[in-house]
Amino acid sequence: MTYILLTGGAGYIGSHTALALLRAGYQVISFDNYSNSSTTALQRVAQLANSNIITLSGDIRDEAALSAVFRQYQISAVVHFAGLKAVGESTEMPLHYYDNNVAGTVTLCRVMREFKVKKLVFSSSATVYGDAKTVPIDETAPRSATNPYGQSKLMIEHILEDLVKAEPDWGITLLRYFNPVGADSSGQIGEDPNGIPNNLMPFISQVAVGKRDKLSIFGDDYPTPDGTGVRDYIHVVDLAAGHLKALQYLESQQGIEAINLGTGTGYSVLDMVKAFSSVNKVAVPYQIAPRRPGDIASCYARPDKALKLLGWQAEKTLEDMVRDSWRWQRQNPNGYGNSN
Ligand code: NAD
Ligand code: UDP
Repeated sequence: MTYILLTGGAGYIGSHTALALLRAGYQVISFDNYSNSSTTALQRVAQLANSNIITLSGDIRDEAALSAVFRQYQISAVVHFAGLKAVGESTEMPLHYYDNNVAGTVTLCRVMREFKVKKLVFSSSATVYGDAKTVPIDETAPRSATNPYGQSKLMIEHILEDLVKAEPDWGITLLRYFNPVGADSSGQIGEDPNGIPNNLMPFISQVAVGKRDKLSIFGDDYPTPDGTGVRDYIHVVDLAAGHLKALQYLESQQGIEAINLGTGTGYSVLDMVKAFSSVNKVAVPYQIAPRRPGDIASCYARPDKALKLLGWQAEKTLEDMVRDSWRWQRQNPNGYGNSN
């Protein structure tokens, strides 16, 4: 029996991908240090899929612990989600971010090589495009970073590119996610940010459920149709399906490819607020606030390469995204901490 190893499998995207993999008949192991997640997520994944998932607690920087996993289980490929992802925190704790994300990835790859497992799907991000000069953004756009989080993703992309140059028998896919939102339609698993959410969708959801007074819209004077920032929001269930496709693709491929996972459509902050209110019939009070330092006006994908190489494209609508985000939030006002 062979397994797919998910590092960070208990997190937001990892748990949805675990569910998609189990439903597709894969055997799945999650290896997570629970620094930003809870074991409840994977218990619910197992219930939803009506199947077992091996859940291991450990840190990707712990080479001995990782080696023990590879020794015990026959792993065919790794989907590497484990990482820290808060931009603001990364500027305050750069060493922690580089250690966790970059050093952690190097350790993971060393162990993979030792056990001759050379198929890797890596969670990269549209953040590697920095402030792109043109939209939609394709995979050949120049890369840059403006904060340690983005820099860590960029460094990992370079490290993996160098690895494939030196050892061409690796098969690596760099999945550059745009803005993941939404939740499984059961409302059982979803995004559970610690403290005050940085991202738009969880903030809107927490305002709607009454946990926060109002949303601050960061800037209404951007060169966009309504002046608010434009992003490519992608439903996390579509994103999870993209990982399945990437794993299938790697079964017959070597080398490294960067692939955007986005819808190709940009929505503004006001579009998101209005869609959330009207679809869910709930008020989302907001105020216009100053721009957030470091934010860009507009960012959305050209998703053609994903369709061409993986046969993947996003299927969920904006309505699905806001409805499913709200269902998760309403059913779990305190996330996994205190679900009802
Ligand atoms: P998440 O925080 O929900 O999941 C990450 C998981 O990794 C968590 O369960 C955490 O406990 C675990 N983890 C962190 N460091 C670890 C370590 N050293 N060892 C073992 N486990 C560790 O985040 P997510 O939204 O699911 O993101 C998954 C990946 O996708 C991350 O690498 C993130 O940078 C990337 N990404 C996320 C977004 C987004 O907006 N959510 C966008 C682009 C890229
Ligand atoms: N945003 C906002 N208020 C918030 C959080 C986000 O107006 O409380 C805006 C932000 O300025 C950007 C968009 O929503 O235009 C998406 O922000 P998010 O942090 O979710 O993603 P990112 O900026 O990293 O793409």
